[in-house]
Amino acid sequence: MIPYAEALRRISDLPIAPTAENIPLGQAIGRVLAADVYLDRDLPPFDRATMDGFAVALEGNRTTFPVIASVPAGQRFGQPVLPGQAVRIMTGAPCPPGTTVIPFEKTDQANRHGNLVVGLTDPRAPLPAVTITDTSALIPGRNIAWKGEDGRQGAVVLAAGTRLSPVTVSLAGMAGATRLWVWKRPRLGVIITGDEVGGGTDASITDSNGPFLEALAANLGLQATIGHASDDGVELRATMVWALEHAEVIVTTGGVSAGDRDLVPVLATSLGFTTIFHQVAIQPGKPVYLARRGDGKLLVGLPGNPVSVLTTAHLFLLPLLDRLQGSLAVPPLRLPLRDSTPTGKRDRFLPGRRDADGVSIIPWHGSGDLIAAASGDCLVVLPADQELTAGHLVEVIPYQGSVPAHHGLMTPR
Ligand code: AMP
Ligand code: MG
Repeated sequence: MIPYAEALRRISDLPIAPTAENIPLGQAIGRVLAADVYLDRDLPPFDRATMDGFAVALEGNRTTFPVIASVPAGQRFGQPVLPGQAVRIMTGAPCPPGTTVIPFEKTDQANRHGNLVVGLTDPRAPLPAVTITDTSALIPGRNIAWKGEDGRQGAVVLAAGTRLSPVTVSLAGMAGATRLWVWKRPRLGVIITGDEVGGGTDASITDSNGPFLEALAANLGLQATIGHASDDGVELRATMVWALEHAEVIVTTGGVSAGDRDLVPVLATSLGFTTIFHQVAIQPGKPVYLARRGDGKLLVGLPGNPVSVLTTAHLFLLPLLDRLQGSLAVPPLRLPLRDSTPTGKRDRFLPGRRDADGVSIIPWHGSGDLIAAASGDCLVVLPADQELTAGHLVEVIPYQGSVPAHHGLMTPR
């Protein structure tokens, strides 16, 4: 049995070299960038009006300006605007050099805005002169977003290793990208083991591990095949062989403890896997198993109990999948403990619930009690042999795909 930190170290030491692929921006959500994204132009790309109004070339104390043209967004006014002149301008249009943008409401055309727009359907219609009614608006260079003030051409705006979210996909689009280099994703082959699972007899249990791993994969955008096997060695081995044909990462649940029918590690060895670790000093989830084969395939043997599966998937499977996808490590989140909590001889990872004041540990009946765990939104990390009093900052691992302050249907215990 090895300590938790040592297990993590062995995961980060695994020889893993993901390969990159180039995909359309529209398919990039959730993918991890394999290359930096940089601006293909200055942003803003030109001096942009940030208000609808008049771009005025100031001249002394003058407040009335002849309007020589109207500039909609998407068009550039090609002539100079001489001191004492103005153009009507719409938000987003390039500002002629040397102008100041005065919003409609600070002019005598404030109330005629709508009428003027109608009148402008004839581009040859003469434009009335504009008078600035609020002279405090006569400040050079007002209401303009300057070329390059947000970012310069060539600047890196998204670093390789970033997992793309809607906002970062949006930024990649603004940077001019239509395709992105991302890391290829591993395929998962999930095998749910156990004679007792889903059998429909009065000694069988319903399967929660299969739905969990299938949902986890879907949430991560990973392709997963799901298989079931009894504890019979021949059947389980055949299912492992089948999964290896479809996946780079095999994830099993059950069959890794010390029972007579816990056959996953011995069968993995017979299929060419070498153990990276088996048994980690944690609670719950101690029997967890990780192995690797010469062809780079990995096998993650999770325990059988649902909360142990939840925990070990977060502790070991997710970091492994992050490595396989080239994702940067997310800095840990720390919150104050709401109540004093005894720790144990092993590092403990208990279901918790976050709120505005910190995190509380949910009373539970052990590693089968998914009802308790599912009423929370995170695992609380309780290092072994420590005095953890209320207010102590503890690391929390949010449940993948959950949001803080989520409320399950259960009455909180
Ligand atoms: P094992 O590690 O195979 O001995 O499994 C430990 C316990 O986890 C079993 O006795 C079951 O009660 C439970 N268990 C195993 N597989 C599942 C599953 N797929 N869904 C829910 N509970 C399970
Ligand atoms: Mg079992």
